Amino acid sequence: TAITNHMPTAELQALDAAHHLHPFTDTAALARKGARVITQGEGVWLTDSEGHRILDGMAGLWCVNLGYGREELAETAARQMRELCYYNTFFQTTHVPAIALAAKIAELAPGDLNHVFYAGSGSEANDTNIRLVRHYWAARGKPDKTVIIGRRNGYHGSTMGGASLGGMSAMHRQGGLPIPGIAHIGQPDWWSEGGEMTPGDFGLMRARELEAKILELGEDRVAAFIAEPVQGAGGVIVAPETYWPEVQRICDKYEILLIADEVITGFGRTGNWFGSQTMGIRPHIMTIAKGLSSGYVPIGGSIVCDEVAATVAAAGEFAHGYTYSGHPVAAAVALENLRILQEDGVIDHVRDVAHPYLAERWQALADHPLVGEAKLVGLMGSIALTPDKAKRARFASEAGTVGLRARERCFANDLVMRHVGDRMIIAPPLVIRPEEIDVLIDRARKSLDETY
Ligand code: PLP
Repeated sequence: TAITNHMPTAELQALDAAHHLHPFTDTAALARKGARVITQGEGVWLTDSEGHRILDGMAGLWCVNLGYGREELAETAARQMRELCYYNTFFQTTHVPAIALAAKIAELAPGDLNHVFYAGSGSEANDTNIRLVRHYWAARGKPDKTVIIGRRNGYHGSTMGGASLGGMSAMHRQGGLPIPGIAHIGQPDWWSEGGEMTPGDFGLMRARELEAKILELGEDRVAAFIAEPVQGAGGVIVAPETYWPEVQRICDKYEILLIADEVITGFGRTGNWFGSQTMGIRPHIMTIAKGLSSGYVPIGGSIVCDEVAATVAAAGEFAHGYTYSGHPVAAAVALENLRILQEDGVIDHVRDVAHPYLAERWQALADHPLVGEAKLVGLMGSIALTPDKAKRARFASEAGTVGLRARERCFANDLVMRHVGDRMIIAPPLVIRPEEIDVLIDRARKSLDETY
C-alpha cells in the first residue's frame, strides 16, 4: 500500500525507524520514541500527523525565510520543470535561470562581489571555497598559501571540507576530521568564555588570535580566514563590537582572503541583505545557500569579488563543479524568492518586527530565573540558560541537559526552538507577524517555566 499522510502515525514512525537513517540524530533513541511526522506547512505554521499546529521558530533549518506554502515558488518550479528541467553549465553552455540569478545576486551583494559559482548546498559551496582560494593563490604565484583558518564552534557544513573548516568538536571526533591544511582559533563567545574580561577586551583578544595564528603559521602559508558573521549552529553567538573591525584590519594587513559564511545570515536574516553589512565587514568571498531559495529547493554558491574572479578566470580551467551547479529549477525558484523578498519589502519587515517588537519581548525573557544573556540580531536570537546569572555559571550536569529539556518542553508546547548546549535559539521565518511573535514568546516562557 502507498505510504501517505493518512496512515496512522505509529505505522509511519515504524517505517521511518526501519529504513531512514536521520542526520545528526541518535537513531536508536529516536526509534524508541518515534519521530514527529510533519505533514504540512503554511506561513510560520507546521502541522503534524496528529493534527497539532506547531509554530516553527527555526524556519526549518534557518532556511524557510518566506514561510511555508508560497504559491509563486511552487508555480515557478513547475513552470521551469516543464520548460527546461535540467541542463548543465559545464561544457560551454548556460541557461537563462543561471544567468538571471547570478546577475541578481551580483546586484544585491555589496561592493565588488559580482560573480557566482553555484553549488547544491552550503557544504558544497564551502568545499568550492577551499579549492578556489588555493587555486587563486597558486595562480598568483604563491602556491604555499594554502592554509585556511576557521574558528572553534564555527559551522561550515558536513562534507569533509565543510566540517573541517568548522570547529565542532563532536564532528571532529568522528570520521577522520579535519583534513590537512585547516587551522582553528577561538570563538568570540563572551558569555561562555569571557571570564572577568569586558566584552570589548575579550572581542579584541579573540580577534588577535587570528594574527597570532597567521604569524605562527607564516603569512606566506595562510590563504584565507572563514567565519560566520553571526555564529548560527554554534548557538547564535554575536561577537562583541570590537571583534570584526580588528579581524578586518588583520586580514587586510596580511593579505588574507576573508570568507564570510552567509549561509544563515544571507538574504535578510540579520535585517540587511547580508550579515557582513550588519557587522561592517568586506569579505572577498561569501558562502550562500538556505535563504537564497527560502529552502524550497536545494541551492548554494560562492559569491566572489572581481579580483579573485578575474585571477581565477585568467588561470585557465578551474577543474571543479557539480552536476547541479546552477540547476535551472533551483535557480528559477531562488530568483523568484529574491523578487518576493525585494518587492514585498521583507528585509524592512525584519528590521521593523525585530526592533523593538521582538527585541523587547526577547530581552524580557532574561527576567526568567533560568535565563542569563538574551541576544538578538534581526531575526536570529539566543538565550543562555544558567543556574547563576551573575556568575554566568554553567549547569553542573552534562552540558546541554537543561537545554535539551527546554527544547523538549517547547516541542511538547508546539513550538520549534533548538538548543545548543545550554543555549536556546530561534530563527523564525522572516515573514513572522507581531501576533505570531506573541505566541512564540508565550510558548517559550511556558516551556522555560516547565523546565525550571
Ligand atoms: N555554513 C553555515 C553557516 C551553515 O549554517 C550551514 C548549515 O547549517 C552550512 C554552511 C552548510 O549548509 P548545508 O547544510 O546546506 O550543506
